[in-house]
Amino acid sequence: MSLKNHLLAVADELQRLKNEGFAAVAVVDDTIRALERVAAASCRDSPAAAGSPGATGGLQEEFSGFAPKPRPTAPRPKALSSPPAELKLPPGSKPEQFAWLVQQVTSNPGCIRHVRPGKKVVVGVGNLDAKIMFVGEAPGAEEEIQGEPFVGPAGQLLTRMIKAMGLERGEVYIGNIMNWRPEMDTIRGGTQVGNRPPTPEEMAFCLPHLRAQIAIVNPQVLVALGGTAAKGLLGADAVPTLGAVKGRWHDFGGTPLMITYHPSYLLRNNSNRAKRSVWEDLLMVMERVGLPISDRQRGYFN
Ligand code: URA
Repeated sequence: MSLKNHLLAVADELQRLKNEGFAAVAVVDDTIRALERVAAASCRDSPAAAGSPGATGGLQEEFSGFAPKPRPTAPRPKALSSPPAELKLPPGSKPEQFAWLVQQVTSNPGCIRHVRPGKKVVVGVGNLDAKIMFVGEAPGAEEEIQGEPFVGPAGQLLTRMIKAMGLERGEVYIGNIMNWRPEMDTIRGGTQVGNRPPTPEEMAFCLPHLRAQIAIVNPQVLVALGGTAAKGLLGADAVPTLGAVKGRWHDFGGTPLMITYHPSYLLRNNSNRAKRSVWEDLLMVMERVGLPISDRQRGYFN
């Protein structure tokens, strides 16, 4: 087969996968190297030689690693069983209740079945007496490896935001709506590339776990990071757009709730305007919980 036909075959296969709903295709380094070798070989080969059956055996071998009849290993989000009932916390101290909750969530078959081999169910982390609880969307690649929320790039920015408030990361509590990284299709053995927002059903499944964390920590203030977290807490109907709810106080079961942009939005949009907008929301949070605010802090981004 000529290089052109090989490429057309690859294009056909990619189109087939796309039609089947695959959002991403995992490509290992060896495949990229194989493609480079094929391209180099095709430049060396004369057009006649490249078209002859004898000359293409090498190319077919190179391509054999690229088009291995991919099959999905993590198909559509697996059907969810009905959401767990609200969790009734056992009596005991906060650490005892929290240990019980972590055990419940990490052993919940409904959570475990969504986690790829070697990856972790993720529960919140932080000070069980925190005044401020941040709520994000869902674990990403780093979080499902470490089993802790907000440890990837967005988490590092969140940590810097917390420090700018005059706090240490360990002084607040950080949780997520979701306890697992929402799955996307991969090729057999492939690594998930990218993230997708959780479905309403997935969020409803995990919400009792977040409610239980809120009940244990009993923070003075909740801060929802981004529109998905806001929808998870308030329901999609209450969040027509992020702009409609951001920068204002809401109520979540009696706890004041501030909604602001997700740190990953700031990673994509590094403008002073976006940063100032988030900082103004955080200043309101600081005021609400009685944190001291210096002139320097007030003037950030002015
Ligand atoms: N984004 C989130 O919303 N949560 C995490 O834990 C990490 C990234």
